[in-house]
Amino acid sequence: MITSSSWAQRETDTLGPVLFKDVDAMRDWVRHRQSAGQQIGLVPTMGALHEGHLSLVSNALGNTDACVVSIFVNPTQFGPNEDFEVYPRPLDADLKKLASAGVDAVFMPDRMVMYPDSFGTHIEPPLVASRLEGLHRPTHFRGVATIVLKLLQIIPADMTFLGQKDFQQCLVIEQMVRDLNVPTKIVRCPTVREADGLAMSSRNRYLDADQRQRASAIVRGLKAVSAAFEDGQHSVSELELILGARCAELDRVDYAVIVDVETLEPIDLIRQDAVAMVAAWLGSTRLIDNQILRFSR
Ligand code: AMP
Repeated sequence: MITSSSWAQRETDTLGPVLFKDVDAMRDWVRHRQSAGQQIGLVPTMGALHEGHLSLVSNALGNTDACVVSIFVNPTQFGPNEDFEVYPRPLDADLKKLASAGVDAVFMPDRMVMYPDSFGTHIEPPLVASRLEGLHRPTHFRGVATIVLKLLQIIPADMTFLGQKDFQQCLVIEQMVRDLNVPTKIVRCPTVREADGLAMSSRNRYLDADQRQRASAIVRGLKAVSAAFEDGQHSVSELELILGARCAELDRVDYAVIVDVETLEPIDLIRQDAVAMVAAWLGSTRLIDNQILRFSR
């Protein structure tokens, strides 16, 4: 690992990613690379990295000239009773994973760098943020939109890589980027799953053995919906019954619904692309997942 003070002297990346904690040094590095004609890819994360994050990294490495990963557990996207304090922060392990993945730079600011005491401006996210997650986590997307825009001001990446696992987050950020003319291309990457189909998540490590086993009911429900849809069932109430029945194994379900793929508004019948969305609890762990249902005439 090399620190930000010496990056300018370094020509090749044999020592792993350059680590930045400072805004100006990070921005200078990006500008330096871009002025040399390089395309920059950004992968924003909260750390506790797994194969899902690393798939975004390999997409970034494959589609741009240099990949920057940000690691910042963003306090403003957590609600007052959520897991901000206990969110896993295995920094050494994360940096090792990023070094072996061939990442060019890591941005890892302290909280006070991103949110000094004087901080006071927030992004008001678009309407799509108010549905589903927005009902259960009312300030979540305001925090997400604000931190992503801040990151893109510091790391003006040509392409930004997001996971479809956080489907509503993709919609919110895509619209923010369109609405505010942010010059980056958003690339949605497929959800990476465990062997039993459970979507990889930094929060999976909170699950005990019994919860871990029951957690796969989410993906089994989504697969059952997808299969019924492919067999011609287009009634949302029927499909939601199938999803709800599988989700009965979970401790509590915040939502298990099929909605419009762009607006996330409720629908009765699938006449165009839709998405099945689930948020559910196992003990004190909340997991989300989704499955797009592609309509073909
Ligand atoms: P997080 O660290 O949870 O904020 O996630 C950082 C990025 O990784 C987001 O764009 C997520 O959607 C993405 N991500 C998280 N889990 C997965 C997964 N299982 N597969 C693909 N992308 C993921």
